[in-house]
Amino acid sequence: MRKPLVDDCDNCGKPGALKLPEGPDALGHHYCPDCLPAITMARAAEDQLRSLLSPILGAWQATWSQHLPAETLAEIQRDTLSQLNPA
Ligand SMILES: [Zn+2]
Repeated sequence: MRKPLVDDCDNCGKPGALKLPEGPDALGHHYCPDCLPAITMARAAEDQLRSLLSPILGAWQATWSQHLPAETLAEIQRDTLSQLNPA
């Protein structure tokens, strides 16, 4: 179902928020002008973190997947990442 062009902000609920273009990460969410800069910055930070970690995690996974099951590696990854970011 297509979302309307104007709706309540998906972040703060303020009415009159415009829909972002549909896309793999935008998904047609509505954000008001007050929330959009922070949302955009958070997406950029997420993209950058993913780009930085992806090659390292890929090499780690390729090495350890020969010795440990995928479930164990996923658990180690999840636990380690949560320890790196205690917040
Ligand atoms: Zn908002």
